[in-house]
Amino acid sequence: MIARLSIENAPAGQLFDYEVPEALAGRVSVGTRAKVSFSRRAATGFVVELPETSPFAGKLKPIVSVDEPSPFVPAPLVALAKWMAGYYMAPLGKCIETLLPAPVRTGRTGEKRLLYAEAVEGFAADGLTARQAELVADIARVGGGWLGQVCEEFKCAPETLRKLAALGAISIEERQVRRSPLGRGRILPTKPLPLNADQAEALETICAAAAAADGAAEAAPKPVLLFGVTGSGKTEVYLQAIARMIAEGRGAIVLVPEISLTPQTVQRFASRFGGQTAVLHSALSNGERHDEWQRIRKGEARVVVGPRSAIFAPVERLGLIVVDEEHEPSYKQEEAPRYNARDLAVMRAHIEKCAVVLGSATPSLESWRNAQTGKYTLARLSERASEGASMPLVRIVDMREENARTGRTNVFAKEMLDAIGERLERGEQTILFLNRRGYSTSLACPACGYVETCERCDLPFTYHRHDDCLRCHVCGAWRRPPSNCPSCGDPQFKYSGFGTQRVEAIVQRCFPHARIARMDADSTSRKFSHDDILDGFKTGATDILVGTQMIAKGLHFPRVTLVGIVNADTSMHAPDFRAGERTFQLLAQVSGRTGRGSIPGEVIVQTYSPDHPAVVMAKTEDFEGFARVEMPVREEMRYPPFVHLTCITLSGPDEGAVEAAAARLRAGIAALGGTGVDVAEVCPAALAKADNNYRFQIVLRSASPSRMANATRGALAKEPVPASVRVSVDVDAHSF
Ligand code: ADP
Ligand code: ZN
Repeated sequence: MIARLSIENAPAGQLFDYEVPEALAGRVSVGTRAKVSFSRRAATGFVVELPETSPFAGKLKPIVSVDEPSPFVPAPLVALAKWMAGYYMAPLGKCIETLLPAPVRTGRTGEKRLLYAEAVEGFAADGLTARQAELVADIARVGGGWLGQVCEEFKCAPETLRKLAALGAISIEERQVRRSPLGRGRILPTKPLPLNADQAEALETICAAAAAADGAAEAAPKPVLLFGVTGSGKTEVYLQAIARMIAEGRGAIVLVPEISLTPQTVQRFASRFGGQTAVLHSALSNGERHDEWQRIRKGEARVVVGPRSAIFAPVERLGLIVVDEEHEPSYKQEEAPRYNARDLAVMRAHIEKCAVVLGSATPSLESWRNAQTGKYTLARLSERASEGASMPLVRIVDMREENARTGRTNVFAKEMLDAIGERLERGEQTILFLNRRGYSTSLACPACGYVETCERCDLPFTYHRHDDCLRCHVCGAWRRPPSNCPSCGDPQFKYSGFGTQRVEAIVQRCFPHARIARMDADSTSRKFSHDDILDGFKTGATDILVGTQMIAKGLHFPRVTLVGIVNADTSMHAPDFRAGERTFQLLAQVSGRTGRGSIPGEVIVQTYSPDHPAVVMAKTEDFEGFARVEMPVREEMRYPPFVHLTCITLSGPDEGAVEAAAARLRAGIAALGGTGVDVAEVCPAALAKADNNYRFQIVLRSASPSRMANATRGALAKEPVPASVRVSVDVDAHSF
């Protein structure tokens, strides 16, 4: 019997054949992790195939030993890694590596055993001093604790405890720390809510897909797109669908964007499914990650909640995969393999023949098109689910008028400040949202909002500081930046942004008595500070929360009655064909944070482009209206979802060598791809020089991803790039 292995740290893309010795025959299958000898070293590999014959002429070396459990990863995950390697043009070894969290792969678990002190039941306190007796009573009351904790809590020395142990009053023993990532705070169990009609129908659609998928079915069921406005009760639908899976002895994976993997979200799942829930969080320690993975692998945890990498959770008998906020860019991994977890979810469901639900209030246009063409089943939730909750009232403030009226550039319009003041008087809460994914590289006029765009590609130019030049990142067109705004003549024609700190300071100055908290990447770097800030807001200790994208999603605060969007335009003018879509999503998501209780909510949007479809449609959270305007533009300009778009970046220290290699690769792809692949001119990357490496890019477009991949692979094989040039391929690229 022959096993084909992907060997850790072996040359990229190669697989190696080994003989399976008789003694191990029953224990080797696809997904098995084995020890072998490789280049005269001991090495670890994963079985990816069991071929009949080997092209290798010599005698095969035997597998030395097999790791338990075997298979180490379930076979469908190996199939997923293979698909990933093909589709994303990444080495299979790298994709296999991606299946396992680092602490599981390396075995460095950081497993900890600590001393645990517990009161001994029935011990008579007679012989103890008063202080000792008090200490024993304290330990009994809290049910024991880790030695260090007890010493700290009850202000005693470890020797004191050891003496008590010697007297038989308490026991001290080593225990393994079962690290739970659910964090602090009690978890109260919740019961399923009675569903409204829309929810009940959506639940049936999902469960029908799962039932069709169970067992003998030939084909995988269609993915379900759950399109429901913010607050329409999508999460409750997921919870009830998962409950059914569990009742049938099947498991589920719930993907949530990293950013909304808040304690609030995690608790909603943990409350319903208790100890069966596993959480994979990027803030976990190695030990926690290891423990959670093992609990999933052993089937102790059947519901996995996590960010994009949770798609690789080793759940067996998978019944359902949920991708919440399926449109979120954070599902895309920005390093090789550059997968999109949403697309992997659809593929894994296809491989495992299980159900998959993509949920969103603002679906990606890719998924929307799939629903329209019938590739996906559409389920809708059209109203907010909570009793008394209604859609918020949205007001758009034209900052051009505001600036003209006051004769200066304002951060806040008077209307916004008045609205905040009213909330403070009424004791209600405000969220101020600032889009800081600012593109200081796209030139916009502060007076009129004008942005220089490439007419051919309908995209803003990107400003390259090093050679003072505006470039289009799709077609490569370039020009010198104008010194005055071509539209209004303003000489200050330059992007000037402001951050959350400045906004916080201004608000504090206007409302000296307001209690303000700020939440952004700087203020939340500690593990639980995120938690603390939100707690403060929840309990009403904070009046105004200022934040970035981080506060846009998943939060549910009934007392928030005003959401102010300080700068709607920054995302609109990103040099990205999805800029309009992103802006619409952001505005809709942020607006969704208000009016979730019985008091109606209000949203104020400050913008320089009040007529932009993303702003106009966000006013009524009219996703379909937005899609109707945006889809024809995508089709006409040949952008996704009508084509797949791949961005190839070449980089290296020698500018001439990189550019020449890019030109050769471009020609090679064009020749092999033929008319089916559209190959743009070589163009300096947005980040043209980084770390002393020059970067050039080639954008490919095609209706057929496999055709694009074949042409690229073929061109690279025929004429390899020089060793000094690095090639990175981003299939279905999110940004250039
Ligand atoms: P979404 O995930 O679509 O944004 P949520 O699941 O967060 O919506 O639901 C919003 C609110 O509505 C939550 O407070 C939730 O508890 C409540 N809710 C959901 N379903 C129902 C229902 N059937 N009846 C009453 N309240 C509900
Ligand atoms: Zn262009």
